[in-house]
Amino acid sequence: MIDQRLKSVVRDVYDFPQPGIVFKDITPILKDPALCKAIVDAFEARLQADTIDVVAGIESRGFLFGLMLAQRLGKPFVPIRKQGKLPYRTVAQSYALEYGEATIEVHEDAFNAGARILIHDDLLATGGTVAATSQLVQRLGGLVAGYAFIISLDFLKGKERLADYSTQVVSLAA
Ligand code: 5GP
Repeated sequence: MIDQRLKSVVRDVYDFPQPGIVFKDITPILKDPALCKAIVDAFEARLQADTIDVVAGIESRGFLFGLMLAQRLGKPFVPIRKQGKLPYRTVAQSYALEYGEATIEVHEDAFNAGARILIHDDLLATGGTVAATSQLVQRLGGLVAGYAFIISLDFLKGKERLADYSTQVVSLAA
């Protein structure tokens, strides 16, 4: 099962990026080409591809499998980036962090109004990042088609924040 393979490979790093945090390090996955392919296979099997027009991946780990998934589905890929990184005209969305605020951006011509957007990130924690991405998608006239995560930390209840946007939430491991 993919969840067991992921659990055995993803590495817990203690006190990163700050004391008290246990960070799930996904980089060992990237050393295993067969597992990378299995992740894309599992996403493809569990997602309703006919409800997706575009895959949006969130900086930076969401780019790794976001583009691979978009390629597999034969759909365009859109990068969602931190403030100040995208070169063309952007639309921005700020959201609250535990301490402070963050801002994400997307190019204003990233997709057409009415496009159905699958949002991908490596990991779902509190859901703040993907909720802000969902708002950004809607402000550009897009529809949230669903979410795809490699890992969701279910004890943080991030999925509850996504229920208002879409019911299609795929995560491969908890
Ligand atoms: P949230 O906004 O859901 O609280 O946090 C999710 C975002 O923070 C994602 O962009 C994810 O990449 C990053 N993140 C938070 N905690 C972890 C972690 O333990 N491991 C990894 N790989 N990313 C994390």
